[in-house]
Amino acid sequence: PKYKLFTAGPVACFPEVLAIMGVQMFSHRAKEYKEVHVDTVKRLREFLEVKEGEVLLFPSSGTGIMEASIRNGVSKGGKVLVTIIGAFGKRYKSVVESNGRKAVVLEYEPGKAVKPEDLDDALKKNPDVEAVAITYNETSTGVLNPLPELAKVAKEHDKLVFVDAVSAMGGADIKFDKWGLDVVFGSSQKAFGVPPGLAIGAFSKAFLEKAEKMEERGWYFDIPKYVKYQNEKQGTPSTPPMPQIFGLNVVLRIVEKMGGKEEWLKMYQKRAEMIREGVREIGLSILAEPGYESPTITAVVTPEGIKGDEVYEAMRKRGFELAKGYGSVKEKTFRIGHMGYMTFEDIREMLDNLREVIEELKREKGLA
Ligand code: PMP
Repeated sequence: PKYKLFTAGPVACFPEVLAIMGVQMFSHRAKEYKEVHVDTVKRLREFLEVKEGEVLLFPSSGTGIMEASIRNGVSKGGKVLVTIIGAFGKRYKSVVESNGRKAVVLEYEPGKAVKPEDLDDALKKNPDVEAVAITYNETSTGVLNPLPELAKVAKEHDKLVFVDAVSAMGGADIKFDKWGLDVVFGSSQKAFGVPPGLAIGAFSKAFLEKAEKMEERGWYFDIPKYVKYQNEKQGTPSTPPMPQIFGLNVVLRIVEKMGGKEEWLKMYQKRAEMIREGVREIGLSILAEPGYESPTITAVVTPEGIKGDEVYEAMRKRGFELAKGYGSVKEKTFRIGHMGYMTFEDIREMLDNLREVIEELKREKGLA
């Protein structure tokens, strides 16, 4: 399909990524693969600021690591404090529960971020939880949680901090060691702008020590086994998605060429600001509470009488694929993803079309 993509993921990929992914395959045990694997992990360590812990590549999507980190880092029957600000926080809860662990929930209305003082209270009331689970960027509502502040509170209570960074990694800053994080996972198909199939995980020493002692970690997602394998054989225990890893390596080189992580993240900030400004000028409102807007995706509230899906369909007819509303706010929102490959000109064009679409829908429904 020939659409300009403003999706929630998979997103449009950089042309350089698509080019490298088309190379002929070879063995993942070959020295040429090992070199790319090691270089990609080294670049990710810099990008995520991981000196002490480990960064690993997994042949799965992000949810695989959401599940693996529960099985490897929380005792059977143990408790996790799951913070929920939207659909993906709810998924975290169900992953915890479907793996025989218990979830204690701190939940907010769509559009809100987790407040550090509430987390502090919840941890005072539940001193027996082993970990706190946080969705860094809630893709369904376009809210970026204040991760450094939340992690600080969790550390004051001596809890492990697990972070779903699927729609944040690559688009929002992550300072793994400095912020005291224990697990952070992301997916290739989001802000790095690589096709789906690769998950990226960062794990702290404390997490890995706990995982070593865990009895049933399973085979496929045995995280200490991944660490050992990577250190000894520069690869993964089962076959990795090599094209995606080549693509990610290329993106991390583009980051370097741009002048480093700060410059790359500024591009994301600029996209997000342009979109928020444009959306407000059209007279639409943003679901996220001020100060917590996502750098990677914006959930827009539709005017009374217009459904999110109607905006999505009308934009598609004009050649722009946005994202439908998701979760409990599905009806009254649509989303504009700003991840992956796009130009500022693409954004301006999308906003011009969105203005016309909203005017047309209002006219059709007699709302204007
Ligand atoms: N968490 C969040 C915040 C997400 O946005 C998504 C994907 N939309 C997931 C988890 C699931 O990731 P994956 O599809 O890579 O398993």
